[in-house]
Amino acid sequence: AIQFQGVGKRFGDNVVLDGLDFSVAAGDRVTLIGPSGSGKTTILRLLMTLEEANDGLILVDGVPYTHEMRGGKRVAIPEKRRSLVRRRVGMVFQQFNLFPNMSVLENIIEAPIHVLGVPKAEAIAKAEDLLEKVGLADKRDARCTQLSGGQQQRVAIARALAMEPEILLLDEVTSALDPELVADVLAVLRNIAETTDITMLIVTHEMQFAREVSNRVLMFDGGKIIEEAHPEEIFTSPKHERTQEFLRAVL
Ligand code: ATP
Repeated sequence: AIQFQGVGKRFGDNVVLDGLDFSVAAGDRVTLIGPSGSGKTTILRLLMTLEEANDGLILVDGVPYTHEMRGGKRVAIPEKRRSLVRRRVGMVFQQFNLFPNMSVLENIIEAPIHVLGVPKAEAIAKAEDLLEKVGLADKRDARCTQLSGGQQQRVAIARALAMEPEILLLDEVTSALDPELVADVLAVLRNIAETTDITMLIVTHEMQFAREVSNRVLMFDGGKIIEEAHPEEIFTSPKHERTQEFLRAVL
């Protein structure tokens, strides 16, 4: 489970998250929606420790992640302890972020071998299973740069899964793709949602995908959650005026 407790994040004068409180239970599939700049990506980046919050605490399974309270003061947690938690979190980015000079297989086995210390043969066997799962078994030895965007994104998904994350963060993973490539990527993610109990935090503009995969939708605006509901409910009868406005624009 993940808990945000009074999390604040500013970039200069720009208050992106303002005392944010929410929690995600293990196995939840939560979609974050809201206007551009409302801080959705920032939340995922905080969970990857790619950004640091200015206030508040993030807990994973009750354990403080990047900061903790000690003697009434908020103090940073040393890198070594953070990395134990970060290891349980995987992220797939809009722009794939594959290692361009490596093959598909090398991209997938790199972190399991070098971060987790998995023996090479085992890492390869697992990577081959994952490539099967994302429909790219025949691309094992291809260079990433030879693949289509949709294929690269499926490699990125396999790479994230190779670390056996408990939490998977998906940041607009179809936004950079040509429309005809989106369906394959969504099918892979739907399959993961159906066949695993990985907790998912999803930032997407694909409302149909949010509807099919997630069990909760959080609507962000002005650094806060302004509405939260089951997808069926929020997409058919949003309560907040800002949510209605937002959904009218994207649906
Ligand atoms: P979008 O739907 O457009 O991706 P978002 O809701 O994901 O938007 P964020 O990417 O989290 O929004 O950005 C929130 C705000 O923080 C934006 O105003 C953005 O310009 C700002 N921001 C994000 N990262 C940085 C950074 N590294 N430095 C300065 N400002 C940043």
